[in-house]
Parts: sequence; structure tokens; C-alpha cells
Amino acid sequence: MSRFNQPLGGNDMPRFGGPATMMRLPAAETAAGLDVAFIGVPMDHGTSNRSGTRLGPRQIRDESRMLRPFNMATGAAPFEHLQVADIGDVPVNTFDLKKTVDIITAHYRGVLAQGAKPLTLGGDHTLTWPILRAMNEKHGPVALIHIDAHADINETMFGETVAHGCPFRRAWEDGCLINDKVFQIGLRGTGYSPDDFDWARGQGWTVVQAEECWGKSLVGLMEQVRAKIGDAPVYITYDIDSLDPAFAPGTGTVEVGGLTTWQALEIIRGCAGLNIVGGDLVEVSPPYDMTGNTALIGANLLYEMLCVMPGVPQKPSRWSGLAF
Ligand code: MN
Ligand code: MN
Repeated sequence: MSRFNQPLGGNDMPRFGGPATMMRLPAAETAAGLDVAFIGVPMDHGTSNRSGTRLGPRQIRDESRMLRPFNMATGAAPFEHLQVADIGDVPVNTFDLKKTVDIITAHYRGVLAQGAKPLTLGGDHTLTWPILRAMNEKHGPVALIHIDAHADINETMFGETVAHGCPFRRAWEDGCLINDKVFQIGLRGTGYSPDDFDWARGQGWTVVQAEECWGKSLVGLMEQVRAKIGDAPVYITYDIDSLDPAFAPGTGTVEVGGLTTWQALEIIRGCAGLNIVGGDLVEVSPPYDMTGNTALIGANLLYEMLCVMPGVPQKPSRWSGLAF
């Protein structure tokens, strides 16, 4: 019997029953005593096109019901090594985006003070800036692995500085990032000018556009990412729209020609060994997710982040040994 919280198993309660928490883990009031806390941020008032991400945390929790505790590919067994629970949602102000970002920073300041590492169920991408502000207070500037179709470095959107297309510009202004350890992967689509991506390059960030990734394994990319980040604290922010809409149509700002689900797994599994201090999965919009697949993929990617948190050993599966 493990001393750690365990997800409710499918042989103890049917998977369509039981608690609607992330992975059917116990719910907790606070992050006290936790190594990792799953947290929802139900917001979509930072979106610029199709909304609906306010419903993301609940849908990701629901679609996480099939997740079993052991990772068959990497050998990770996170619930043997970490105390994990679902601490519910941040009580955002759904009528005021600027108040909401301050509410988020204060909430994460509390979680970090209790010693837990947050894994966040979004919510639109605005939420990463206030989380990075709290991270900066605790750790100083962090390395960033940002997977997205979009750079999210706009100076303003519709004249506003707080929006889901601006979080990394704001985090940069606030000194939250280690500029030579920022990686943006999967960027693509139409823009206003080359500067949409080149601004980041000008700050020393590494931008890996989606076209560079097409048809390739990303294992080699992640080797280089790990080498450049070293032992710096690193935050992972995963926008589900980095995936091709063939895989993940349930999101608000769709771009053609994206990453595959297996490339997403390679990216997150390639973070093993890094000093990960937190992560998020954002932009799942259930009203556009007719099959639930987008939320289901989001739930899986959050589980994969849990599997690479510090303290979880990796024992990769035995492959066939066949050359093909
Ligand atoms: Mn984004
Ligand atoms: Mn995006």
C-alpha cells in the first residue's frame, strides 16, 4: 500500500462514475503536503476568437477518467514517488480580466509557498503570465518550453496589454524569463509580418517553427533543449493548438499544419531530467470539441508532464530490437 494518494482505479469504480477530479485523484482544499497540485483556471475572457476555454478544466478532468497510473512507454509511476491531488479551481473574476490575473498570481503564490509544484488545467493562455510572475518571486527567472501555434508575444491586442496573445511579452517585461533558455516550438500560420516570430529571436529565444518539425522525430530537438537549459528551473506551457487540428480541433484559434500527438509526447517525455517547476495545458475549448478528443489529449499531456516531474524515475520499456 503506497503512502501516496492513488487515482481511483477502474476495478474499484467504473470509469464513468466516481469523482470528476483530475485522474480521479482525491480532491484537496489546499496544496499543503503535496508535491504536485493539479489546479484548474476556468477562464476565457482573454480569448481573441472562439471562446469556451472557461469550460476546459472540467472537461479535461472528465476526459482524464481513463488514465491509468503507470506509463507503459517510459516506465514512470508518478504516484509511487509523488503526493498528488486536485486542489480545484482558481476563483477568477469572470467579469474582469485584469483583476483575474492578479487573483491568479496571488493563488499560485500561495501554492508555491506550500512547496507544491502546480500543473494547471486551462483556461486561455493569458493565465501563464500571472503564473510566471509567481514563479519569478519563488525561483527568479525560469527557462521556458512553450509549445504553441502562436508566439503570444503581442505588445497589445485591440489596445489591451492583457490577452491570450500577450502573456510572454508581459512575462519578458517583468523579467520572468531566462532569455537564452526560452524555446518556442510549433509556431506557424499567417501573421502580420516576419517580426511576429523574429521579435522573440531578437531577445535570444529559440523559435522552432512547425515546418521544421514536419515528418520528424523530435527526440533530437529535445536533447538540444535539455543541453541548453541545464539545471535551470524550467516551466512548461503547452497550448493545445500547437497540435494539428486533425488531432485537436477543440480550440479557439486553429492553424493548419501542426504537430502530431506523438511529437507532443516526444517533447514532454524529452523534458525528463530537467528541473521542472510547473506546467500548464491551455486553450482546450469544449464547445468546439465534439468528440472530447481535444480534452482527452490535453489530459494525457498533463499526465505526461506529471511523469517527468523531478523525483519520478524513468525506466523505458523494452523495444522489439527489430531494425525497421
Ligand atoms: Mn497560446
Ligand atoms: Mn495558440
